[in-house]
Amino acid sequence: MKAFDRILRNGRICDGTGNPSFHGDIGISGDRIEAVGRLDAAQAAETVDISGLVVAPGFIDLHNHVDHGILAYPDANSYIMQGVTTSVVGNCGLSMAPVSDAHREDVRDYLKPFLNKKHPYSWEWSDLSGFFSCVEQSGTIQNLAPLVGQGTLRIAVKGFDPTPATGDEMAAMKKLLRAELENGAFGMSSGLIYPPGSYTGTEELQELARVVASFGGYYVTHLRNEGDRLIESVDEAIAVGEASGVSVQLSHHKAAGRGNWGKVNATLRIMEEARARGVDVTCDVYPYPAAMTTITSLLPSRALEGGIGAMLARLKIPEVRRELADEIWQGRMKEENWIRGIGWRNIVIAESRVEPRYAGMSLEEIIKERGGSDPFEAFFDWFLEIHGEATMVLFGMDEADVRTIIAHPLSAVISDSWVTAPEAGGRPHPRGYGSFPRLLGKYVREERVLSLEEGI
Ligand SMILES: [Zn+2]
Repeated sequence: MKAFDRILRNGRICDGTGNPSFHGDIGISGDRIEAVGRLDAAQAAETVDISGLVVAPGFIDLHNHVDHGILAYPDANSYIMQGVTTSVVGNCGLSMAPVSDAHREDVRDYLKPFLNKKHPYSWEWSDLSGFFSCVEQSGTIQNLAPLVGQGTLRIAVKGFDPTPATGDEMAAMKKLLRAELENGAFGMSSGLIYPPGSYTGTEELQELARVVASFGGYYVTHLRNEGDRLIESVDEAIAVGEASGVSVQLSHHKAAGRGNWGKVNATLRIMEEARARGVDVTCDVYPYPAAMTTITSLLPSRALEGGIGAMLARLKIPEVRRELADEIWQGRMKEENWIRGIGWRNIVIAESRVEPRYAGMSLEEIIKERGGSDPFEAFFDWFLEIHGEATMVLFGMDEADVRTIIAHPLSAVISDSWVTAPEAGGRPHPRGYGSFPRLLGKYVREERVLSLEEGI
């Protein structure tokens, strides 16, 4: 008679394939599942009765930024507690490598607002293997599947230079990308709202995507615009897939800003049409109608040319302030225009390293507290005071759109957060703790947008 170390008895088993769930037992020895089914006759050192409970494989989070906090919180409790055992990291163009000697400071400054301040990052690594050996030493039990961030890749070759890549620069980027893919990276991500992703033209992306395709990797993209130019941005992502043959995943799909609500019906149709033409395109979505990112995304990306230091110096010049304010207020900004699209009131500070008391305050409240007649002047003064270092939550999506995307078979639910812990402080987006419980509680159990099997 078979003996296991442990048997979970009488659970409802969802195997993660989407197949119908069934009641049964699970036999485990060591760290392996050895048998699934009716194990009535089997013996075990320990038997756990899980009647009335569902048992499922550890969840795979296809899009998060766990790499940005894992050295500070190697136990990754905020992820383990929501069922996630595997995280795809390096998203939105923001991977922790490759890093070049020439631009080590650039990438360090750039990723600083995303990184947990508890850990002193040495930035001594030059490639993903180097970074992940630090992660391995931390003893984490979270499985991490790395992507190469196109932003980080471009910084390694040309810093924050906004000009198109020359032939030599292109060759240098492809060489670094190829090395990372040979070493096991799963593909490449881009973050086309974040410089230098935003400086990158479609053709440059296509050329890099060809390298990714040749390794059977995939291309994940934070679109150039998720608001007024959402449709064009989806078209661009699909064009990258079409030109290079790479599989495409649209990151945290949404329509930002009230005027764009409902556009996801069109984008999902565009994806279906592209698939019919042979482009392998899918999307992911976090189960909340609010977004979160760094406050530098409120400005046109040209404000960041030359890096964070150059941006802060520039924001002291009255004419620059006036130009930026006009560009935002008159709706001429290329990137999504959160200030105009959702208003100061719906932008809430999550964390401000320099001045923690701003966490939880909206920009409207901050501007009001500072007084003066021009909200942009007050905003820029505040921005300089905190050195442009803060994260924010943006209340800018429609709940109906979130539901539409979750219900669509081409989407996967993700968290898009980083590992954290209560001691980290701030008022972070709840997705860092609650994405998968919310999927199963709200969208599966309460609203029945998906069946339990589909949800899992
Ligand atoms: Zn993103």
